[in-house]
Amino acid sequence: MTSKTVLTSPNAELRVISSEFPKEEFGTKETAAFTRDLIETMRVENGIGIAAPQVGVHKRVIIVDVGNNKPQAFFNPKITSKSFTKIESEEGCLSVPGVFGIVKRHRSVTVTAQNIKGLNETFRAEGLMAIVFQHEIDHLDGILFIDKVTRYTSHPKL
Ligand code: ZN
Repeated sequence: MTSKTVLTSPNAELRVISSEFPKEEFGTKETAAFTRDLIETMRVENGIGIAAPQVGVHKRVIIVDVGNNKPQAFFNPKITSKSFTKIESEEGCLSVPGVFGIVKRHRSVTVTAQNIKGLNETFRAEGLMAIVFQHEIDHLDGILFIDKVTRYTSHPKL
């Protein structure tokens, strides 16, 4: 298990749109190792979520710590439905160290994704979990939370 270097903004790699996680890579040793490394990187950095592009891999994989210290990998995650209601909360990002700000997101989302074996699963997330899913899936499209901040709560330039 190796912790990888997390790329930080304004690194252009963070703005690349990630491609679908390829079918043929499910169930391989490489995928298992990469997933473990991504989880380890998130743990070392004390994150509750991480996306592959944050370590320079442009494939659609995210890790979400779903609570109880049980990080889970989601491959090709897609938001299939979202609540009309939005909530505002303070966010930060491993790729934007020292910066925190208020972001408005859907209060609940339904996410379909493949698990590490390539099997489809559907998850319903609310509150913090819903926010983490939206934040991490944004990374796969090259979007950072600072693009959506309505008010900074902590910024080196404040
Ligand atoms: Zn982030």
